[in-house]
Amino acid sequence: MITVPAIESNQLAELCKLIGCDDTLVFVNLDLSENYPKNECFDNVSAKVIAHGGERVVGWSIWQHDYMLEAEYHAVWRSPEGQLVDITPKNLPFEHIMFIEAPTRPYQGVQLDNIRLNTTVNQLVDDFISLAETKFFIFSGGEKASQKFIRLTKNEQDILNYINGMMIAVDALLAKGGVRNSPCFCSSNLKYKHCHGKGLTSYLNSIKL
Ligand SMILES: [Zn+2]
Repeated sequence: MITVPAIESNQLAELCKLIGCDDTLVFVNLDLSENYPKNECFDNVSAKVIAHGGERVVGWSIWQHDYMLEAEYHAVWRSPEGQLVDITPKNLPFEHIMFIEAPTRPYQGVQLDNIRLNTTVNQLVDDFISLAETKFFIFSGGEKASQKFIRLTKNEQDILNYINGMMIAVDALLAKGGVRNSPCFCSSNLKYKHCHGKGLTSYLNSIKL
């Protein structure tokens, strides 16, 4: 489940340190009255500024998952009156987001990967985060970063299919309270760490080389 973090916590402070922001976390209300497209926050806010003035503010929106905090590179609109407003629709009907400005990370046409913090001591969550980071790399690594539409090679598509399958399986294992010592999801009768989890980190690291 994804929620907006309710209050500031030590873990939020830790995430902000990972992001490299020492600005203040604020709640920003959504205004979806203009029907901008999902996931296009940078373009949406630029269009809003042209139509209504104000300015684009780049930073990170912060999301709470069951096992991690996640920061998403994001743009909101500052109205001519100085009010921050999020004009980009979400997959879920949130009324506000948690946001931190990033004056030192201006948007340069390149989406940055989300920054994720394991909020548990469960190392299976670290595997999930590594899978998510590798998935982002396949879509946005190297010269793909500035391309709007990318074409994956057969090999990249195979890796992506593997990662997507692993993310679903690891997420399901986590939802059952699983850890790396739990029986693997593939019913091999081996522990996950000796089965599908074996060598996973080094394999994922080798993809990003
Ligand atoms: Zn297995």
